[in-house]
This record gives sequence, C-alpha cells and structure tokens, in this order.
Amino acid sequence: MKVCLAAGTRPEVIKLAPVYEAFGRTQGATPIWMFSGQQDSLAQQAFDAFGMTPEISLPGPDGSASLAARLAHLIAAFDEALAKAVPDLVVVQGDTSTTLAAALSAFARRIPVIHVEAGLRTFDLDAPFPEEAWRAMISQIAALHLAPTERAAQNLRRAGVAPERIHVTGNTVVDALRRLAGSAPSPLTVTPGRRLVAVTLHRRENWEQGLDKLLDAVLEIRDSAGDLEFAFVLHPNPVLREAAERRLRGEARVSVLAPLAYPSFLALLRASALVLSDSGGVQEEAPCFGVPVLVLRDTTERPEAVEAGVAKVIGVERRRVVMETLSLLRDAKAYAAMARTVSPFGDGRAADRVVNAAIELLDPRLAAAVRAV
Ligand code: UDP
Repeated sequence: MKVCLAAGTRPEVIKLAPVYEAFGRTQGATPIWMFSGQQDSLAQQAFDAFGMTPEISLPGPDGSASLAARLAHLIAAFDEALAKAVPDLVVVQGDTSTTLAAALSAFARRIPVIHVEAGLRTFDLDAPFPEEAWRAMISQIAALHLAPTERAAQNLRRAGVAPERIHVTGNTVVDALRRLAGSAPSPLTVTPGRRLVAVTLHRRENWEQGLDKLLDAVLEIRDSAGDLEFAFVLHPNPVLREAAERRLRGEARVSVLAPLAYPSFLALLRASALVLSDSGGVQEEAPCFGVPVLVLRDTTERPEAVEAGVAKVIGVERRRVVMETLSLLRDAKAYAAMARTVSPFGDGRAADRVVNAAIELLDPRLAAAVRAV
C-alpha cells in the first residue's frame, strides 16, 4: 500500500506527522510525503520538529499570485507528481489550497482520497475564507471522511455523505501534541507573580479588517493589568509581521517572538494563563493543557471547546476583546471554570484509526482478518 500524504502548511504537517508514523509502523504500507511548498519556512520547521524530510517536494506557488492562480499551480503540480508516484491512496488534511488541490488531482486520476479532519463547518462561506468552501468541496469527492468529532460527522451526514464512508477518529493534533509536549523548554520565563498571555493572529479575515485594533487591544489590556505579560507569536506573513513589529516591538511586558518550533510553542502554551488566538489548531491544543482560549473570531468551526466551557468566541471588536479578557482574568471563579484540562477533540490515538480506516477501504478482507486477530 503506497500512501501519499499531501501537505503544504504548518498545521497539515503537524497533524499528518502522526499518520505518517502510523503508516510507517504498518506492515506492507509505505508512506510518502508530498510537500507542496505552500508555506515554506513554517512547514519546514514542522517537518524538523518530527525529524522528517519530505520524500517529494513540489515547486511552491508564487506567493504574490492570485488565490485562483496559486490553486491552479498546485493542482498541476500534484497532478504531475501523482502521475509519477502512482500511489494507492492520497491522504489530505483540513482545508487549505494544498488540501483541495491534492484532492482534486487525485480524484481526477481515480486515486481514492482520504480526508482527515473532515466535517468542520461554520456554514459561512466568508469565514474562514476560502477554507469553508475548500473543505465542503473536498467532502464531495473524498472516498473516506475521517471526522475528528461526532459533531463533524453529523455535519457530513447532513450534507448527504454516505454514513458508511464516515469514521470518527478524533483529531490527530492530540496525537502530535502528546508526542512532542515536554520535549522543549518554554521560550519565555515568566516573572514570578505575573501571568503570561500568549497571542497568535494569522487569519486573513483579521488582517484584512483592522489588525491594528486587535494589537491596540493587547496594549490596552496590558495597561489595565500590571500582573500580565504578553507573548505575541509572529506569523511570517509580511503584512502581519510588519504590523505587529511596528505596534508591539519594544513595548513593556510584551515579547514579540518569531514563529516557534512546535515543541517550543507547546511549552509556551503550557506556561500561559490564557491564550488569545484566531488559530484553529490552538483552539484544539490549549484545552489539553488546561489553558483557556479566547477566540478572536466571530465564529468557530470547533464549537466542541466552547461547549466544554474551555473556550469562548469573543469576536474582533476592540472594546469587547479588552472587556472579555480583563473580566475573565479578574474573576477567579470564572477563570477556574475555564482552566480545566479536557480533550474534546481526541484521545491521542486518532492516527491508528486513520490507518485502520485506510486498510478497510483498500482491503476489507484484510481488515476483517486483522480485527479477528
Ligand atoms: N504553531 C507552532 N509554532 C508557532 C505557532 C503555532 O508550531 O509559533 C502550531 C500550533 O501549535 C498549531 C499550528 O501551529 O498546531 C497552528 O497553525 P496555524 O495557527 O498557522 O493554523 P490553523 O491551525 O489556524 O490552521
């Protein structure tokens, strides 16, 4: 069984690394990374964290080209690579342009597509853009839909996906986190008596619509609470980086950090009292460390953490961000209620379920024999 794992961005590499390892442990299976180059330095950092090197690296798209042109480039690049590699299966993860391009190219070559982290929905095509559309499109063509949670599976059933094609596996990010948490020290030492607030911001909706408001909110919160320290973790996108450097660099009790290697980022999360973030992965990871997340978005496709009471969607309006953050940090009871260690997204064994589902798809008789043993 030759399995290509398509990845182009940091979260895809992090979330597929445990799947690569699980295929590697499976007799008769050969996992092959097909790296699209969509997010070069961040994805490379993630490969390094797991000690992996992609077997196939495609020429990345021109970052300044339009979204459609980048997608077209990725489709053509995957098509060529799949023609050479001729895998039995292509595994894609999540909802990036790489995910959609790899899925379309494989589908067009009649190679079955397994979609990991299937079924996430906000039901708003504008948020996140273009990911909401990309993941819904992949659900039309995947041979197997691996949902992280029961709710995601329900979204797929409601969209008309055949129930026998859906498996609830948990999110492989929990496997990745368990594998690397504790393997690096925190990049920051918090001054005794102070609490650390980690901040990450990278969503297109946020940098297109008033990133400065959110950066000002961070400074206002800092001015109102003398016991807080902030770690603002940069994203390499030049618009984001320049805005954050300009507004925050040199400010007291604010550290501006270059993108961190995954183990260091996990250590930072663990050392934090609170996370302000628009990241998807961070909403899944922080609850594993009992760190509350205030989500800087108007909506989330990961309501499980909100329902578990450990995350809250607070939007991107400056006044509300300041108010919600300060009131949570000043209310010990409300804070304790949110600072609980839970794992609504998985139990750390999702990657093995992905491999079992793949075997079942390709060879149901072999899968039955494995079950019988
Ligand atoms: N992450 C990392 N280093 C950082 C910031 C984030 O390794 O400096 C990890 C984080 O733990 C999570 C993933 O990157 O697993 C999230 O990536 P991102 O926020 O870029 O994408 P999203 O999850 O929103 O798609």
